[in-house]
Amino acid sequence: GTAPTTVTVTGAAGQIGYSLLPRIASGAMLGADRPVRLRLLEIPAAVGAAAGVAMELDDCAFPLLAGIDVTDDPATAFDGADVALLVGSRPRGKGMERADLLQANGAIFTAQGRALAENAAADVKVLVVGNPANTNALIALHNAPGIPASRFTAMTRLDHNRAVAQLARRTGVPVTGIRGITVWGNHSATQYPDLTAATVDGRPATEVVGDPAWIEEFFIPTVQQRGAAIIEARGASSAASAASAAVDHVRDWVLGTPEGTWTSMAVVSDGSYGVPEGLVSSFPVTCSGGEWRIVQGLELDAGSRARLDVTVGELAAERDAVRGMGLL
Ligand code: NDP
Repeated sequence: GTAPTTVTVTGAAGQIGYSLLPRIASGAMLGADRPVRLRLLEIPAAVGAAAGVAMELDDCAFPLLAGIDVTDDPATAFDGADVALLVGSRPRGKGMERADLLQANGAIFTAQGRALAENAAADVKVLVVGNPANTNALIALHNAPGIPASRFTAMTRLDHNRAVAQLARRTGVPVTGIRGITVWGNHSATQYPDLTAATVDGRPATEVVGDPAWIEEFFIPTVQQRGAAIIEARGASSAASAASAAVDHVRDWVLGTPEGTWTSMAVVSDGSYGVPEGLVSSFPVTCSGGEWRIVQGLELDAGSRARLDVTVGELAAERDAVRGMGLL
């Protein structure tokens, strides 16, 4: 049969990890014909809990699951990794300043960048989920000599999926009828979910929606604030939907985006749409043959330009902060 694909998941004992791992092991991420070998990385205090998750994965008797290793050593965790999902990160503690958060995550993502460069497969695909995801990805790619920057991405797919779901609900079509949505910029409240080029069953979304105020006053803030709304309702961060988005992101990257549409991924900018080269920003992307490509030629009206400038400005400020800490 096919040789197993090695998938490393960090923060494997966390909430997202618990939803994510069974989906990877069942074939939802890489396909029903692709065996997977899982490597779970956790901090020493959580390795025991990760071993418990591994026991449950064993107990699922997934036909595609070729093996599971649990470790607190990044070199072991990333050994031969074909796909790495960097989920674990340092949450903001009480009274913690933004600089402390960036510093704590800087330590994690510099070390993981190095461990990836030294141990992972030459064509490893990296998805950063742990926040601040864009800037954590930026730190990792700067600390992974030999791995092309294009192999590091950060997740805005949950924001993208939230935008698709809101538009489908408003217009009464299934999500499969929605195309051409873009989430631009940072995975944060400044992100810009953009319907300008979107279509609903082939018709311009702005026309089908009709009311521009719905977009400005409901759609954009609802997507931007959805994470907080989930915490408010559930008493905990979104986890199942975040895991599902991570599966979607990697599946599309590996197996390709569907014909005639695109998705949103945070990738290293080549200067497209005036986003400064080198920032890890969300763009409209298509994937094929395991490579992503930024969709070119979309029109940005003055309102979109202003929103893009805000979120990209935030990314630039985060980059400047971590550069000032010597993390890049
Ligand atoms: P979760 O599994 O709920 O979340 C993990 C990370 O994903 C957080 O940074 C979270 O950000 C982020 N995230 C990104 N997008 C979303 C989204 N849309 N919704 C929710 N979260 C999102 O966190 P837990 O605390 O349950 O688990 C984290 C695990 O990581 C712990 O077990 C910890 O031990 C581990 N860890 C592992 C490390 C390693 O392997 N080296 C390093 C550090 C931690 P946010 O905080 O903003 O919600």
